[in-house]
Amino acid sequence: MTTNRFTVSTDERLSVVDITEQVEAALPPDASGTCTVFARHTTTGVTVNEAEPRLLDDLGDALADLVPDSGWAHDELDGNADSHVRAMLVGPSETIPVQDGSLDVGTWQSVLLVECDGPRERAVDVVVE
Ligand code: ZN
Repeated sequence: MTTNRFTVSTDERLSVVDITEQVEAALPPDASGTCTVFARHTTTGVTVNEAEPRLLDDLGDALADLVPDSGWAHDELDGNADSHVRAMLVGPSETIPVQDGSLDVGTWQSVLLVECDGPRERAVDVVVE
């Protein structure tokens, strides 16, 4: 098992960032098997889908529509329950096939970091097995 970590700077509170290049760069050159892409935070998610800019905005809009900004119990603590709940809906990780040091994904599939409480610097682990 090999773990490599990279960081991503996000620039909005709720945004979707294509991290495919950073994940590819974190793979050992001869790796084959699977990699788990894991965001080390409680208010970010990771998913795999098409990195078409309007679609990325649509995902942010859908999460905002599904989860109201306020009115949550956790807001009494630090005011960001909406961020946690949106991140939990997406989930913190994806497991992706790897072949000869590259992601073995479909033509239109990219790895996406879903920032739910930015702007911040985020750490992402790529665990290859
Ligand atoms: Zn919180």
